Amino acid sequence: MTTATQETLTHPDQLLGSTFDDWVSSSALSRNDAAAIYRRFHRQGQHPAVGSDGRSISTIQTEDETRKFILEHADGLGTESVILPIEGRTGRIRRTLCVSSQIGCAMGCTFCQTATMGRVRQLTTAEIVAQWHHARHALNERITNVVFMGMGEPMDNLEAVLPAIEVLTDHNAAAIPASQIGISTVGHAEGIERLTAFMNRPGMRQLRLAVSVNAPNDDVRREIMPIAKAVSMPRLRNAMQNWLDAGGRPILVEYVLIPGETDDVDAPSQLANWLDGMPCRVNVIPYNPKSDSPWPAPTESAVEQFITAVASAGLPVNRRQTRGRSVMAACGQLGTS
Ligand code: SF4
Repeated sequence: MTTATQETLTHPDQLLGSTFDDWVSSSALSRNDAAAIYRRFHRQGQHPAVGSDGRSISTIQTEDETRKFILEHADGLGTESVILPIEGRTGRIRRTLCVSSQIGCAMGCTFCQTATMGRVRQLTTAEIVAQWHHARHALNERITNVVFMGMGEPMDNLEAVLPAIEVLTDHNAAAIPASQIGISTVGHAEGIERLTAFMNRPGMRQLRLAVSVNAPNDDVRREIMPIAKAVSMPRLRNAMQNWLDAGGRPILVEYVLIPGETDDVDAPSQLANWLDGMPCRVNVIPYNPKSDSPWPAPTESAVEQFITAVASAGLPVNRRQTRGRSVMAACGQLGTS
């Protein structure tokens, strides 16, 4: 058993930010000791040879079973993460952790609370994995799935996000299968191409890609998503097609339904034309109003009508369940001043 004095304590970020192989090969400890520390820290949450990470959960808000928590990092800035229990088709409950990849976001989507912060800073790999670690061990949640759908655009921070996926899938660490990890992007074409190359590494083939499209054409998209000025829908479709051609799984096309903006009666057929021939599923997200929102949430009947029209246009479609809206934990509502 390793004994450690205060001076020799390992800083947790070295473990949170490293795969098992990288940690063991870089550690000055014996292979057995290094392996034991790594496994116990990730599986049980602590080890006598590992110090405190100095982070704490400052706020937990719940609505039904949905829990939003703020994790304060060393510089006092916080990330928001959400734990969502979701019943699958077999009746089994999945516990999905929605993690943040940045503090704030530079993308400026007009319907999103996080955008109002601007990008404050990037998160490190350790800070991303720490969100899982605290959910698992401080909150005692058995996380089965992780989605990069919290604060920030993951493709804008792939230097930290890709190594975080390696730690999250490491069977000596979080041991979450790649098939249960999803990365959602605003439509960052270069990022999709980098993720496509990463997906072809051993063990990563089953990663899930979600693209937040939210509009039936470039005109509407440019009004609500500044990235559309740099990445046109044909360019975006090209990157998505390359993902599929490289063996990637069918893509989740996210569509935020905003009254008066994205719910035009022709939108479903235009979307179907754009997606023609592409293996995908449309996920309709009823807009969750940000603070001081110019738009209300759509009515139930408007959501149902839109989903029916998307299905009639020939696209597989389902609805994102609205969870945590009252505690600002729903999609597009994360972020604080
Ligand atoms: S929707 Fe995503 S990419 Fe757009 S501003 Fe919000 S966090 Fe950033």
